[in-house]
Amino acid sequence: MNCDICKDSGKCKNNEKSKDYDEFYSDYWDCVEYVELMEGKQKGSTMISWIKSTMDKNKDYESDFSLWSKRYN
Ligand SMILES: [Zn+2]
Repeated sequence: MNCDICKDSGKCKNNEKSKDYDEFYSDYWDCVEYVELMEGKQKGSTMISWIKSTMDKNKDYESDFSLWSKRYN
């Protein structure tokens, strides 16, 4: 049985049939890692670029917050 998300060949850790499958910890990030492995990308590089893009989106909020916190320091 293949993983529902990344349609792996049984090597995805999010696959219930995988020996590395963990009911609590396995999630779609395991699929991301599997796809990264298949594409020869550095493990975790997708998560890092996702976090970076999230931080870019929150830049305005963060600068507002740092201005606010300065007033009270
Ligand atoms: Zn998967």
